[in-house]
Amino acid sequence: MFFSNEQIIDGLTLALTTVAWAAGSIILVELVRDAYHMLSHQLKWLYQQHHIWHHKAFHSDLSIVSEDLYRRSHWHHDVPESILMFVASCLFLGVAYASFPSWATLIGTFAGGIYYTTCSVVRAVAGGMGWKWANKADPNHEPGQFLEPPTQWIVNKSYHWRHHFENPQAYFSGVYTFVDKLLGTAVSLQGKTVAVTGASGALGQALLKHLIEAGARVIALTSSQTEPITLEVAGKLLALETISWQIGREQDLSEVLERADILVLNHGVNVHKQRTQQAAIESFEVNTWSSYRLLELFLSTVRTSEEIAKKEAWVVTSEAEVAPAQSPLYELSKRSLGDLVTLRRLDAPCTIRKILLGGFRSKMSPTATLSADWVAKQTISAVKRDIRNVIVSYRFWIYIVHPVREFLVSSYFRTHSCRDAEITTTVENNTCSERSLIVSSLEQG
Ligand SMILES: [Zn+2]
Ligand SMILES: [Zn+2]
Repeated sequence: MFFSNEQIIDGLTLALTTVAWAAGSIILVELVRDAYHMLSHQLKWLYQQHHIWHHKAFHSDLSIVSEDLYRRSHWHHDVPESILMFVASCLFLGVAYASFPSWATLIGTFAGGIYYTTCSVVRAVAGGMGWKWANKADPNHEPGQFLEPPTQWIVNKSYHWRHHFENPQAYFSGVYTFVDKLLGTAVSLQGKTVAVTGASGALGQALLKHLIEAGARVIALTSSQTEPITLEVAGKLLALETISWQIGREQDLSEVLERADILVLNHGVNVHKQRTQQAAIESFEVNTWSSYRLLELFLSTVRTSEEIAKKEAWVVTSEAEVAPAQSPLYELSKRSLGDLVTLRRLDAPCTIRKILLGGFRSKMSPTATLSADWVAKQTISAVKRDIRNVIVSYRFWIYIVHPVREFLVSSYFRTHSCRDAEITTTVENNTCSERSLIVSSLEQG
């Protein structure tokens, strides 16, 4: 029995519309969850319910303080939250069906929002009753070592941990991170120690100023002066902790990198139109290798769950990753750094951001259009929205071309390189899995 083209198109339309209504109703109830959570930290009577019960129910390794407190936290927070979500899903079904009466609307909103929130209510009540399976259905509060840094779009354990133990006025999202991205609460800089290289340059100073305004403690790293860097912030002149270092002696910064939550790799050199051997070596040494050595040194300080959740490296590359910068050696060296970061991010133990900037006014580019202060402000604003590849440029095509290039290069690196360095040096010309099999059989033999 065959279907006509019209029947196939009708069937596909019905299926897609149903899925769209289901997805829409789930997104809506998640927005309700996050709004309720955010209000729980703003309104005193809700805060007492939420903070005293939910926040105090966990130790910092996410093991529960006591069975009794954990059960009560469900009755005081999870149950009312899930009932509110259920009510919202019922209202959404009613409004949606009244506006667009069809089977797709009814089935989609029922199978999406109503089913989804009913499961949430059942899980919350089961947690309140002390039934063990309910704990297992809550991966964001599962005790144990973090296996991955915070993820970008869907909340994971290390993302949510920061709401409990880093800054309860940020990281409100429960499942999807839209609300935090919208509010600029997806990354908090409050109280974090941030070390910035290239601190005596125009962008370095502007970044330091905006980091201080965002509540960070800053350490200025510079290779061009030994006296403390001073900055005027909010009308006050501040003398910053300043550490002098030299290219090639990155190891000297080990102690600083241990105590830094965030490392901003912002130093660089532009040899402009030079193309001598010396200019090539200097460009790669400063722009590529020095930053890469510091990045690896910083990543070696990420060991504990707390460090996996909190530590970040921001690498200032340049729009030269994809665009001409009238300086071939600057482009080549910055592009190489950008590609090394893309490769390293495949297995990095913490978040690594790229900061791709267009030309801004500095000693290197005195006639550029953008001011360093504006570029730094936009950078901090994008980081607070957890943008992993921050682009600040007046060339709009870069916002389209770079994400495509980043995706393609990252996919290529992922499929043509292996996680285990030992495997790649042992056997040549095989795929990763084949190598793994051969090496493990060699080891067993
Ligand atoms: Zn929580
Ligand atoms: Zn909370």
